[in-house]
Amino acid sequence: MSARFVINSLDFVNGSGRHCDTIPILELVRLHDWLFDDQGSLIYELSGYVDKNDKPHLLLKINGTMNLSCQRCLDKLTHTFDLQTILLLVNSEEELNLIDEDDSVDAILSTSELDVIGLIEEEIILSLSISSRHPEGTCNSNLPRTNKTSFSEQSKSAHPFAVLANFKKTN
Ligand SMILES: [Zn+2]
Repeated sequence: MSARFVINSLDFVNGSGRHCDTIPILELVRLHDWLFDDQGSLIYELSGYVDKNDKPHLLLKINGTMNLSCQRCLDKLTHTFDLQTILLLVNSEEELNLIDEDDSVDAILSTSELDVIGLIEEEIILSLSISSRHPEGTCNSNLPRTNKTSFSEQSKSAHPFAVLANFKKTN
């Protein structure tokens, strides 16, 4: 349904590629579980560059606003995000594992078919898992009460990305 945007990541970097676009939130299907509604859109900019050590990098900037469901009260939570991620392109799983031990660097495997929209969805999901609740004490308390069992089940399933988020917190 949504138009996928696919690049050859190394070619993109070597050609100093740059691509900007606007995506309706509606098209980011992997985000739908987090959303209160599908209003809004985001703007992204992807650019490729080689750093002073001759390493290929992608720089991804994402800006936008979306209406999340608060993970505590399930009411609307308007969330504005302004993300910037630098990704080192590596050539092998071994290299990727080495990089993973270093919290300060994010890396992905270089590929001839990098799904840019998928990458954007991933980056947003990682950022959401630590910020998708109203601030303490400001939740909508007028919602019907759920019984205790279902509430604790809810909060358990609300953190599928908590582990991944811990990797990102140091950035
Ligand atoms: Zn809330």
